Amino acid sequence: MPPPFDSAWFLFVLGCLIGAVLGSFGTVLAYRIPRGESIVIPRSHCPLCGTFLTARELVPIFSWLLYKGRCRTCAAPISCRYPLIEGITALACGFATLRLGLSAALPFAYVGILALVAAATLSLPRKA
Ligand SMILES: [Zn+2]
Repeated sequence: MPPPFDSAWFLFVLGCLIGAVLGSFGTVLAYRIPRGESIVIPRSHCPLCGTFLTARELVPIFSWLLYKGRCRTCAAPISCRYPLIEGITALACGFATLRLGLSAALPFAYVGILALVAAATLSLPRKA
């Protein structure tokens, strides 16, 4: 009997899911560190109206698509750089997971990818 899933695809999708979450955290780092804000408190919110984001609004990439790139409360536009960064990080982590497998080196690869993404994002012009 064949396995219920192809292990290469499973590793890639698993890496992409982890990478999307890491990419979302990377956008938080890139937004808050230059402003001297805490990366933990307050929790994620709209920078314009201050409304805290719900769990549904925190799902990387999909929440931006669901709300068409706008704040649910004040309809302020949210830059497309957020889903792009999350997507790029997701793909990078997906390929790293595919290449390294579930090895001891994988968390180090994730940290390296997160650092590169955060550094690249910090070098972009600032936007909301
Ligand atoms: Zn808002």
